[in-house]
Amino acid sequence: MGPEERRARLVEVYREARDCARCPLANGRMQVVFGSGNADADLMFIGEGPGAEEDRRGLPFVGRAGQLLGQLLGEIGLRREDVWISNVVRCRPPGNRDPEPAEIEACEPYTRAQVELIEPRVIATLGNFATRLLTGSRAGITRVRGTPQVHTIAGRTLFIMPLFHPAAALRTPALVDTLREDFAKLPELLERELDAEAVGPAPALGAQAAASQLDLFA
Ligand code: URA
Repeated sequence: MGPEERRARLVEVYREARDCARCPLANGRMQVVFGSGNADADLMFIGEGPGAEEDRRGLPFVGRAGQLLGQLLGEIGLRREDVWISNVVRCRPPGNRDPEPAEIEACEPYTRAQVELIEPRVIATLGNFATRLLTGSRAGITRVRGTPQVHTIAGRTLFIMPLFHPAAALRTPALVDTLREDFAKLPELLERELDAEAVGPAPALGAQAAASQLDLFA
């Protein structure tokens, strides 16, 4: 797909998402936070959901967690404009509560469409919600962070790199160095041949079944 067609189709998906009422989060939002950045990016970040600042500005990761994300990107020579940034839910959960499985499921077609259209080589999943959705495993972020996995999502084989959520690192400063170390693996991963990795680690026994509700990309 050429860059113009990619943008045009992304705009179509955005127009659809803008008026979305597929889940109750539509009732409390100021606006849909669709995602932002480079539509041709090789690297995509998927977080959890918009907070107050994101809801107000219509952009993902523009609050404190976003500042840390931008800083860590800068340390590996990237700017926000070089990557695509989005969330598993695109409307702010009230009081910044965790997104519900049904809300993540309702928003999944937009997540899938963004992966299909942007065609990233690497998706960095920030925190448990994005990691569980994209890997289809219930494994917790503390166990899986920092080790790339190979998955086929929306018909495309790519790397998923699970990372701690920057908000968790703000709450627990000891995690910032871990997050920084994991970020430092991204440039090499972006260059890494996918074929050699095509047989990823086998999912833990039973993980797929347990994750069936969240394994929305299968
Ligand atoms: N801002 C976002 O857009 N997503 C998060 O997960 C946290 C802050």
